[in-house]
Amino acid sequence: MSRGLGNRPVFQPQLVHAGEDVAGLNEQFRGDVAAFRLQFRCSDCVYFWRSKSACTLGWPVDQLNADPIHILDAKGEPAFCKAFEPEGS
Ligand code: SF4
Repeated sequence: MSRGLGNRPVFQPQLVHAGEDVAGLNEQFRGDVAAFRLQFRCSDCVYFWRSKSACTLGWPVDQLNADPIHILDAKGEPAFCKAFEPEGS
């Protein structure tokens, strides 16, 4: 696999830069979610298997559905699913 800076795969977007606060960016994201009614969680996705709380594509869902809502994990890496497909699309 091709690697970018550090140990990050080159296909992962760099969402956090030196000096930026991950908790603050997640808080800002929660504001954006509320303001724009963003849908990005498994519960909004056509691939979500509700009765089993699982992804029919086999992706892990725990982090995507964890509260509070966040776009970055503790390391500042993206915490969203590129296979997300909104219901009704
Ligand atoms: S495709 Fe992604 S967003 Fe959709 S249910 Fe699976 S893990 Fe969740």
